[in-house]
Formats: sequence, C-alpha cells, structure tokens
Amino acid sequence: MNTDLCSLCAALLIVPAAILGWMNIADRIRIRRVRLQYRSLSSESRQQMLRCIDEAGRAGSNCTVLVAAEVASPTSNAAVIESHYGGMPYAEAGDVWPTVAEDKTEPADFLIQVRLDDTFPSPWSGRLIVIFSRREIDQTVRCYATPACERWTALANGPTPQREWLLNKVLIPKQPGLEEVGMTRSRHGRDGYLDYDPVVLVDTLPQLNTELLAHTKRPADLLAAVLAPNHCGYGFELSHLVQLGGDPVWLHADLEGLDCEHCHRPMRFLFQFGDLNGGSVFDDGGVCYVFGCDNHPDQPRGIVQVP
Ligand SMILES: [Zn+2]
Repeated sequence: MNTDLCSLCAALLIVPAAILGWMNIADRIRIRRVRLQYRSLSSESRQQMLRCIDEAGRAGSNCTVLVAAEVASPTSNAAVIESHYGGMPYAEAGDVWPTVAEDKTEPADFLIQVRLDDTFPSPWSGRLIVIFSRREIDQTVRCYATPACERWTALANGPTPQREWLLNKVLIPKQPGLEEVGMTRSRHGRDGYLDYDPVVLVDTLPQLNTELLAHTKRPADLLAAVLAPNHCGYGFELSHLVQLGGDPVWLHADLEGLDCEHCHRPMRFLFQFGDLNGGSVFDDGGVCYVFGCDNHPDQPRGIVQVP
C-alpha cells in the first residue's frame, strides 16, 4: 500500500515536471527556428513584407508602428533629428544630460526619440520628442518644435551609448469588424486583437502571408521577428513595439482622462513604447505612454505602467 502511494506521489510530481520540461524545450526550438529564419531573410524580403503592410495601411489606418532597423555607424547628422533609440539623443545648446532623479547625480538612460509626422495635427506635426529614464512614473520628456541638424549639440556626461536603431514608419491597416474574420477572442485580456498583431496581419493580408510562407510554416512567428527585430523570437508583446497615434493600448489601468496640469484640458495621446533595447528599465515588459496638450505642446508627459 505504502509502495503504491509512493509510486502515485512520484508520478504526480514527475509527469507535470516532464510536461513542463518538454514545453520549455519546444519553446526554445521554436525561438531558435524563427531566429534562424529571420537571419536568413534578405533585407529586400523584410522591406517587401513591411511594404505590404504599409501599402494596405494607406487605404485606411488608425495608427503607425515604428519598426527598428540597425544602423552600421554611430548617429549620423541626418539621423539625429529622426526617430531612433540607442546612439545619441537630439539636444540643443543649453540642454544638459538629465539625471535619474532630482537628488541624484547618476545620468539617466536615453530611451527613445520620436519625430511626429503629418498624421498628427498642428502643433504636433514635425516635432521631435526625446525621452530619458527617471525613477518615477513620469519620465523626463523634451520636445523640440523645429529640430535641425545644424543646431544639434552632443550632450556630455551621459552613459555609454547603446547600439543604435533607426525607427521606420509602417502604417497599420485599420481592421474591419474582427467577427468577420472569425477572431473575437481577447488577447492580453483586452477586447479583440490589436490591428498590428502578427496573427491579424497574416490573416487579413494575403500577399503578406504569401511572402512569409516562402520562408516559414509559421508566418505569424516570423512576422513578429520582422516587426521587432531586437526581440527576435516568435512572441508578440506590447513592450516590443512603438505605436504612434491611434488609441493607447494600456497594460492594465486605463489613464483615460489625463488632463494638462496647466490648463486642465484633456491631453492628446502621441505614442507608446517599451524596453526597446531589451533592458529592464520598465521592469521587464513595462510600457511608457506619451501625451501632450495642444495648448502646451512644449511640455508633454511620459508615464510608465509596469506589468
Ligand atoms: Zn494645457
């Protein structure tokens, strides 16, 4: 009897452990496979996939996603006023490198800079927003109305620059009622899939699907890597991408109703981004939401939510 009980207990422990172990191995195999497939893609193939999405987006779009492309050399003069992360931030004479908190001397991390395009109304179109980390919910945000290469000043006293990635715009096609394509289930606990979820894009853009199927049997896995090359794997997380415009996609608490602290009018959602360099500045998976007031565009806010 005791022997039977011992055998039963052993089975109860060993079987789940074996299943978990196998799932872990299967996960690693899937990640390795998508990494190999991504690396074997030519630059032209990747560009063609992104063009498929962007061209469909021109017929109607709610938001833009910024897709990272590695740059070979340090920040060039032309890139310094464009969207990028890593490398050096845009700054002008009189700026200083911010610190992580008022009472600290430790330099903040340069997180991202985003050049707002003409999908934004006045006074936002053409503005450059630069964000540094801060040990608070609010990050350090600087906004330049008319950034210019000739006014760029390289700030001193910052940390060693991280590898630089340019951010290229891809218009995301606005999805019709998702019930029409048989997808009503929520993802990450939200209602419906996001327009830029690789599963949605693959299902609704036949030409994109064909392009991907030439390289893989799992097109959504490979597309996730194409959209977020710095997080090359098959997973899709909010923190991997930069979403420009549209509605904010909250990790949990909805901060709808965020008002300007100067005029108390509702602020406009500008963009959101996560730990793009794969670091843990936002607690591994957090997202920063950037809002601005149309009446006070020089003082946007960047607010972090962590998982
Ligand atoms: Zn205001």
